[in-house]
Amino acid sequence: MNNFYNKTADEALKAINVTSGGLSSDQVNKRREVHGYNELIEGRKKTAFQVFFEQFKDFLVIILIAAALISAFLGKFESTVVILVVVIVNSILGTVQHLKAEQSLNSLKALSSPNAKVLRNGEKIEIPSRELIIGDIMYLDAGDYISADARIIESHSLQVNESSLTGESEGVNKITEVIKEENVAIGDRKNMVFSGSFVTYGRGIVLVTDIGMNTEVGKIANLLETAKERKTPLQIGLDSFGKKLAIIILAISAVIFGLNIFRGEPIIDAFMFAVSLAVAAIPEALSSIVTVVLALGTQKMAKENAIVRKLHAVESLGSISIICSDKTGTLTQNKMTVQKVFVDGKIIDHDELDHNTEIEKQLVLMSLLCNDAVTIENREIGDPTEIALVNLGEIYGLDELKIRKEYGRLQELPFDSDRKLMSTMHKISGKNLMITKGALDVLLDRSVKVENSKGIASLTEEIKEKIQHTNIEFSKNGLRVLAFAFKEIDENRKLELEDEKDLTFVGLIAMIDPPRVESTEAVENCIKAGIKPIMITGDHKITASAIAKQIGILKNQSEAMEGYELDSITDEELKNKVENISVYARVSPEHKIRIVRAWQEKGNVVAMTGDGVNDAPALKQADIGIAMGITGTEVAKDAASMVLTDDNFSTIVKAISHGRSIYENIRNSIKFLLSGNTAGILSVLYASIWALPVPFAPVHLLFINLVTDSLPAIAIGLEPHNPNIMQEKPRGADSPILDKAFNLEVVFEGLLIALVTMIAFHMGLKTADTITASTMAFSTLCLARLLHGFNCRSKESILRVGVFSNKYLWFAVILGYFLLILVLNFRPIMGIFEVTTLNFNQYSIVYGLSFMPLLLVQVYKLIFVKYTKEV
Ligand code: ATP
Repeated sequence: MNNFYNKTADEALKAINVTSGGLSSDQVNKRREVHGYNELIEGRKKTAFQVFFEQFKDFLVIILIAAALISAFLGKFESTVVILVVVIVNSILGTVQHLKAEQSLNSLKALSSPNAKVLRNGEKIEIPSRELIIGDIMYLDAGDYISADARIIESHSLQVNESSLTGESEGVNKITEVIKEENVAIGDRKNMVFSGSFVTYGRGIVLVTDIGMNTEVGKIANLLETAKERKTPLQIGLDSFGKKLAIIILAISAVIFGLNIFRGEPIIDAFMFAVSLAVAAIPEALSSIVTVVLALGTQKMAKENAIVRKLHAVESLGSISIICSDKTGTLTQNKMTVQKVFVDGKIIDHDELDHNTEIEKQLVLMSLLCNDAVTIENREIGDPTEIALVNLGEIYGLDELKIRKEYGRLQELPFDSDRKLMSTMHKISGKNLMITKGALDVLLDRSVKVENSKGIASLTEEIKEKIQHTNIEFSKNGLRVLAFAFKEIDENRKLELEDEKDLTFVGLIAMIDPPRVESTEAVENCIKAGIKPIMITGDHKITASAIAKQIGILKNQSEAMEGYELDSITDEELKNKVENISVYARVSPEHKIRIVRAWQEKGNVVAMTGDGVNDAPALKQADIGIAMGITGTEVAKDAASMVLTDDNFSTIVKAISHGRSIYENIRNSIKFLLSGNTAGILSVLYASIWALPVPFAPVHLLFINLVTDSLPAIAIGLEPHNPNIMQEKPRGADSPILDKAFNLEVVFEGLLIALVTMIAFHMGLKTADTITASTMAFSTLCLARLLHGFNCRSKESILRVGVFSNKYLWFAVILGYFLLILVLNFRPIMGIFEVTTLNFNQYSIVYGLSFMPLLLVQVYKLIFVKYTKEV
């Protein structure tokens, strides 16, 4: 019997040679040498060399290579060399961009890769799942991803979703008992868990039996394809725009080719020219610029605690008009402290409980027993709500571990946010007692008796009212209230959810969870930016409303709604009401999906936060699902497009402003490329129409488009964050990136650059020969386009955004200028570029004209663009 499901848990531990303290570091190292890391071997990554050669698959590059070959065939070796050099430089730039983007996306992936909790050297620690090894004792909680195959040692209502392996989406109840039959199907190996599944409920302790490619999922996966990042909507849009534009430009090139032949130019020259014009005009770099700028933008966001898991999220961030946020931990600090206690009909301050009074002591004991949190050497481990209870115990000198040892936990029904209850069973004074804690509204409905200092009495309407009244008073002050009850269970049988009824109510414990200091300002910024913040919480309506009012989310009490009210209205009714609701209280995760849908149907782009395993569907439904990095489960993180490493609402608002800036930068970068290309085309068209000599040699256009223009385009994409961007309204979800105003600016600015270029050309023709005129036109076009980069940085003048604030652009422009000077003055290259030496006057004309578009556009912006003061 080799299968672990045929062995008992003890036999499995023995077979793998593990003691109860888990593996030692020594054992881990030795085992790692034999078994390696816990990873599925992915399809081989592309080498830099492969990426480089892939650049040659580009349609335009193929045309260029064909042109180079034709030149060589006709004996024009100089042209061949130039074209090949330009193509190679362009491919090197493309490769560097690709690798840089890939590198930053990979480091993002590493930041959000899953972890596992294991017992090593007798201590419970968290490690990256990749480091799991056979023999590790692993702890599983609801929401954990399982990343190795393992035999179950302990199961507390452990339920696992194995749909990725078996296709079955219902959770499977896991057991510890041995399975006698051999050759049991995966779905029936109930005492095992498998890599690729996740815990939906309960908790367990398991022994890792297989890792990496030896796991069941590894066996079927064979070689996994390297997950390809899908193109973002923006990239898809730009690709299709680029294709349409390419067709138009190819047609124009064909016409110019015809015109030149008609004028008696040699076919090869006419052909070369048409090819260069096409290459100079078709903006084939658009999509790759978007990838680079998005990827580099995500790095910046990661530094500010927002890890983007799906690249398209960066674009959508700018369109978000609704943020649905959890309360606890996101808007509040999640640092809970008990303030008030209600027991025996009295409200008592947390530090004035009397331990000599039996019922008061009993309530504190119950709160320590029905509780999973611990504090070890000042380290607090567990749910902050439960930590608050442990800290309450400490005030009275009660040690949670000692007490839990004394009244050992026999069974448990773990907490879940749908039920809003948790129960544990203990042997106390010879009786099996189930202690239940949770939301008062749920617990009171299930209580029939009440315990006070005189004993147990029936729970009359009058007492119920008093309890509810106290609960409301606590909640009005923003306190989070937990209720406690118990029940005697006679037989020794398995606890079931149905047992949580006919309870005896004991008391309430109310704790404060102050709002995060940054929340108020972040909410204010949201509203200014045209984004509506909405609080969605499992907590009580009055508590939620109190906090929401403090931070500015709720203005009017009528804007708050409860989960049960949601249940009683249809989706259509919700759609009609949704705009008037800012706080949803006592909701279950499935309510979240309805709220997101209602907003989406009203045409909004919705962000939704979540942390629990049940939040995953809502996170997927939202346009941007945002998971909590600290308190969030692995399942929630996996479903989200963004993870907050600090769980903080204000980080979402910062991320949105980054998203808006990045989108704006991409737009500006595209504007730079398109207006420059337009200038090139217009100049050539002008010369063709007026039957002037051809203003540019093919190599000029190739040089500008493939070499000097690409670095400024990226530099514009890296423009520093615009602080004013959050004073604008969100961008419409389907408003095109290239709208009318944008196109108009592209044409106008292109025209301006073409104009100065042609003036330079005419002046050259008038005062000197064609080659000088061509040199002047080329220099002016190149320099004017470089300088135009400064115009494309922002809607506002550079004098207002800071002349030197984008150092990348300065570097790119200076480098481009240096290359131009090299081409104009370095003898060996001059011949190839068909340029001649310019005199002082001619240089002055070139410089003067090149600065004109920069000057004119800047003056226009200073006068006509509304200056938004920095916030
Ligand atoms: P949010 O959804 O904003 O994070 P929340 O943390 O209050 O809010 P849940 O964790 O779903 O949401 O909790 C809902 C309710 O369940 C709480 O108001 C509380 O009454 C109860 N509750 C919370 N934690 C526990 C727990 N560990 N044991 C028992 N009951 C709990």
